[in-house]
Amino acid sequence: MSVKQVAILGSTGSIGVNTLDVIRAHPERFKVVALTAAKQIERLAEQCVEFKPSIAVVADADGAAKLNRLLQEKKIVTQVLYGPQALVSAVTESGCDTVMAAIVGAAGLVPALAAAQAGKRVLLANKEALVMSGNLFMQAMKAGGGELLPIDSEHNAIFQCLPDRFTKNPSDHLGVEELWLTASGGPFRDKSISDLAGITPEQACAHPNWVMGRKISVDSATMMNKGLEVIEAFWLFGLPLEKIKVLIHPQSVVHSMVRYRDGSVLAQMGQPDMRTPIAYGLAWPERIDAGVAPLNLTQLTGLSFTEPKLTQFPCLSLAFAAAKAGGTAPAVLNAANEVAVAAFLDDGLPYLSIPNVVEHCLNALSPVAADSLETILEADALARQTANQFIHTIQK
Ligand code: NAD
Ligand code: MG
Repeated sequence: MSVKQVAILGSTGSIGVNTLDVIRAHPERFKVVALTAAKQIERLAEQCVEFKPSIAVVADADGAAKLNRLLQEKKIVTQVLYGPQALVSAVTESGCDTVMAAIVGAAGLVPALAAAQAGKRVLLANKEALVMSGNLFMQAMKAGGGELLPIDSEHNAIFQCLPDRFTKNPSDHLGVEELWLTASGGPFRDKSISDLAGITPEQACAHPNWVMGRKISVDSATMMNKGLEVIEAFWLFGLPLEKIKVLIHPQSVVHSMVRYRDGSVLAQMGQPDMRTPIAYGLAWPERIDAGVAPLNLTQLTGLSFTEPKLTQFPCLSLAFAAAKAGGTAPAVLNAANEVAVAAFLDDGLPYLSIPNVVEHCLNALSPVAADSLETILEADALARQTANQFIHTIQK
């Protein structure tokens, strides 16, 4: 068995730490060759001491100096680089064959695309990259000739439930009729929108079933996360938007389903633990121990599925609208949402203003064809500027 050489983009985050947890249990299968993080330098230093990558990347020169100091103390020989371009070097110059793309948000797009172009096995957690650049990203994967394995639990579930020879080409859909993405509904699934006026970041981040980074936790509360995931599923699997459905499933046991023409519905079930899809992506097509407790069906009190109410989750309908509009609209949606969520988490923007910011940007910026990285990054930058201006006016 050859040892997989793994680069982890975003190693200090929730997905990054879970990835290292799986890798730690299988040293005969995986070697970590690159780790990257934005700010948590001490945590990254500890990871470098344990996994001894050849490259570590941080956001800026101060972080790099600090990391170098910490690694010298421990006599660890790891090349320390910094800045956005160095994230690409972590992919192209570390000798990796497998890349875990787990940076949160648009910041992860360029290195994820580099991994696609370079023909790596791409374990895609960074859904925002695909939302922004779906067509470009899928083309880059094809040209690079690597393997794309979805890590988002819903898409990983669907990947597991699709027929082996399924491709994005409709003639190879092999009886697949619909994809059903499940959603927990987040911490506010039983509240009406009028109850949510004074919601704090702590309340929004207290997800009932999953432990995740703060941005995706807020996205789960607003259900923007599910909207982004519908767009992600569209690009990954190539079914028309109207065949991608969302179901609220509060127990988070069924991670998603595929409905077939003959009446069969295949579901993937498991604990709400990201180490399952991570282990699946790392070892595919083999299955390895993920360190996850077995699912005990007799302990479940029931499984329920309902349709989400769009009036309760305006971010979900905005995502559907952006998906339908196409072109750069999903990139605008994503950028406006990132700015609004950050303002909610750090600058007192009211929770209920998040969809207003996104809607304002979608109305203000007409979509154009998303046919180059430059166009997509331009749309992203303009949406951030527009969102910031709008937030400024509503906070005055
Ligand atoms: P997180 O906030 O816990 O971690 C984010 C990581 O990205 C950190 O290592 C951070 O240092 C790095 N990072 C942040 N901004 C950066 C920047 N500007 N430049 C370089 N690095 C930067 O996030 P997470 O919960 O691990 O989520 C990561 C991605 O995986 C997101 O796209 C999220 O939607 C997706 N995802 C996460 C989960 C989950 O359970 N956490 C599930 C499905 C999908
Ligand atoms: Mg998900």
